[in-house]
Amino acid sequence: MRDSFGREIGYLRVSVTDRCNFRCVYCMPEEGYPVSPKDELLTFEEIARLVHIAADLGVTKVRLTGGEPLIRRDLPVLIKKIREHREIRDVSCSTNAFLLPRFAKTLADAGLNRVNISLDTLDAGKFFRIARRGNLEQVLDGIEAAKRAGLHPIKINCVLMKGVNDDEAVEFARWTLREEVHVRFIELMPIRWNLDESLEYDSYQALHGGRGLIRLRIKEDEGMLDGAQMRRMVVPYTAVKERIEKEFGTMEPCEIITNGPAHTYKLMDAAGTIGFISQISADLCAKCNRLRLTADGQLRPCLMSDGELDMRTPLRTGATDKELSDLFLHVVKHKPERHYLAEGQKVMGRGMSQLGG
Ligand code: SAM
Ligand code: SF4
Repeated sequence: MRDSFGREIGYLRVSVTDRCNFRCVYCMPEEGYPVSPKDELLTFEEIARLVHIAADLGVTKVRLTGGEPLIRRDLPVLIKKIREHREIRDVSCSTNAFLLPRFAKTLADAGLNRVNISLDTLDAGKFFRIARRGNLEQVLDGIEAAKRAGLHPIKINCVLMKGVNDDEAVEFARWTLREEVHVRFIELMPIRWNLDESLEYDSYQALHGGRGLIRLRIKEDEGMLDGAQMRRMVVPYTAVKERIEKEFGTMEPCEIITNGPAHTYKLMDAAGTIGFISQISADLCAKCNRLRLTADGQLRPCLMSDGELDMRTPLRTGATDKELSDLFLHVVKHKPERHYLAEGQKVMGRGMSQLGG
């Protein structure tokens, strides 16, 4: 599958639920966030059918995400179904790791290759202030369980927030010296839940040298960072890199397998690597090879653009494989070249836990 700009589309990110057992301050309000009714979520049969059709069209990599994918019951059953297509060579999962102590081995046995684990702090108190559920100890146990289960390489996704956990960048970097973990610092995206009917958008330039960001105005006080707070908390990756290099010396650029969109570096003699991901920077768009399937069955060609195509209705009203395959091609054909945030594009009808991050 090639899009109109010559990009080979080989990666499908599948959200299996919009629910989560955590409430990270930048992702979800603490209480009362809207979720899809259960009967609107795709069943495993429906997901597997779509993934297999995508695989016939050239998709070889699938990432399961959410919400928190591990809270979807019987996830290993889905992994096995996805794996039945021989062109699917890599199945990974983005998780907060809280349930990995219980499920890592079963998931690996079902055919999961690797995990990306979200972890923003190594301090137990701060952990609870950010995730507002769960606990650090069980997440660290989850990381160990993933290693024992052979879910390599282990990537740790860390969203840095100014004044909250940016002082820990050096500690995360130190971790890569002693262990083969691949820490990736993810730039905070000021994306809000669309809880308020009266969305207000603006773009701002200061932090990103002219590239715009989005702000959605939401009812205050439902326990999530508001747009203004998030904007203040963005830590540009150049600042993080500088801080790490001041402590440990210059990092060398490097590649790791399944590198993805990160700019990756390595400290001298380190076992692991350090990556930086800014999904806001349009420079990643040129390499974007992915489509996203939301938990409620909408196919999106771009995280940052609201266009999506309903696959659930045709799935449930007797569409043939050929018809569904044509819908995939239609979405690929309309994958935008890049996002247009800097030009004032107004986006984000969905929050991150509905999009699949
Ligand atoms: N629950 C799983 C997890 O946390 O890994 C998967 C879903 S989560 C939405 C996927 C990723 O999106 C996580 O790494 C999370 O840190 C990131 N994320 C969520 N909201 C974000 C935001 N506003 N800015 C940057 N990253 C965000
Ligand atoms: Fe849940 Fe992941 Fe969002 Fe945190 S980032 S609230 S773990 S979906």
